[in-house]
Amino acid sequence: MRRLRSLTIKIALVVLVVSLSGVAMVALFSGWITMRQFDRLLLEQLEMEFIDRVTVHYTQVGSWERVRSAVDQGNTRFPPPLNGAARGRPPLGPEGRRSTGTGLFALLDQQGCVVVPAGPYRGGECLTSIRRVRSTPVELDGEVIGTVLTTGALPTLGPQEEAFLQRINQGFLWAGLGAGLLALILGSVLARTVTRPLHRLTTAIHAMAAGNLEQRVEVHSQDEMGELADAFNRMSAELSRANRLRRQMTADIAHDLRNPLLVMSGYLEALRDGVLRPTPERFEMMYAEAQHLQHLVADLRTLSMADAGELSLQRQSVAPADLLERVANRYAHAAEQKQIRLTAEAEAGLPPVVIDPERMLQVLGNLVGNALRHTPSGGTIEISATHNTSGVVLAVQDSGSGIAPEALPHIFERFYRVDTSRSGETGESGLGLAIARSIVTAHQGTINVESQLGHGSRFSIHLPVIGQV
Ligand code: ADP
Repeated sequence: MRRLRSLTIKIALVVLVVSLSGVAMVALFSGWITMRQFDRLLLEQLEMEFIDRVTVHYTQVGSWERVRSAVDQGNTRFPPPLNGAARGRPPLGPEGRRSTGTGLFALLDQQGCVVVPAGPYRGGECLTSIRRVRSTPVELDGEVIGTVLTTGALPTLGPQEEAFLQRINQGFLWAGLGAGLLALILGSVLARTVTRPLHRLTTAIHAMAAGNLEQRVEVHSQDEMGELADAFNRMSAELSRANRLRRQMTADIAHDLRNPLLVMSGYLEALRDGVLRPTPERFEMMYAEAQHLQHLVADLRTLSMADAGELSLQRQSVAPADLLERVANRYAHAAEQKQIRLTAEAEAGLPPVVIDPERMLQVLGNLVGNALRHTPSGGTIEISATHNTSGVVLAVQDSGSGIAPEALPHIFERFYRVDTSRSGETGESGLGLAIARSIVTAHQGTINVESQLGHGSRFSIHLPVIGQV
């Protein structure tokens, strides 16, 4: 929880810092540019006012005589500036400290000699054209009567200009505050969007750690978080399914061991107490139960070895026809007794398969045994071997009861029996097909079933043809 909260703070802080630094940078640059432009504008205006004043003087006097004192006396001697007023900006009074532009501009007469000194330009000094770089001509009736030089000094700001710049700075400050606030809100929203699913996942993981494996996290986003939640949900579903199967299997094993043990201990108790007489039939019955237990334990061992990848296979090259013949011979008698026609047919020219023949016989035997159990008298069971592009196909097809579609996806599961009521009497454990699949998988093969209820089933084993041993 603490970590999640700190992540929220981190994200919000990062967003805040990024946006504030953005605003600060914009404020800094815009402030600088505004100041520069403002100064330039001011300078231009003052220069225009200066030119207006000296032009008026020249018009009145007819020469540049006494122009310096006229400029120094400021606007008390001069009429209001022509251009300044025309541009809509009221001229500033003496309190504005910029009314005459004194000290900012020098004036040269037609000969280039300084008549109004300022900055580096001294009175009476005559300048060459090279030193008059930043100059503006003063014209009267189309004739150049003098030149204004800018000294490079910046105008002093008056209270109005100061107030204007202050307002701009205030604007930036408000913009910064607004952006900061917005960043805080957006940062918190973003942080919550990121951390909320994380929080849900953490809660679900804690619940799983506490043993509650069935967990689902609802995250609807399509991003990485959604992917993570999806992966988690799949993992949780798979874990809880595996756990359910494990529990179910333990219960099934206990149940399957219990029945034969109960029968045997019942008989033994009765024999010990002299309630029953020891007859060969009774011993035969107990022996059958012990055999059943032995098979069950052997099956479980095979499955656990297959699970651990330790199922040892004594592989050798075998002709599929030989394999079919051995299975058919083994079950011929049982089929005959049930009046079922059992046939085995292998396609001509089949390549040999490299398999553990005993294990594969166990698989085929299991399939034929199941077929015999589920096929009524007069039915048929066909064992066949064919081949296609991916390898050899061994199939057991019967004309028996078939398997209901809803049971089909489960029949390879451990302890799955379609008709649970019959399991006790017939000795079906529900492990046969699970073992068959484990053995086929260990051979890098696959096993499938197709079935139609009431018409029969076909189990097919696909074995890859690999190099001879
Ligand atoms: P079991 O040892 O109980 O037969 P299996 O794993 O071999 O267990 O089979 C699982 C279930 O599939 C059985 O309960 C059985 O009803 C059904 N089944 C298997 N083979 C056939 C078949 N050829 N025809 C109809 N049902 C079948």
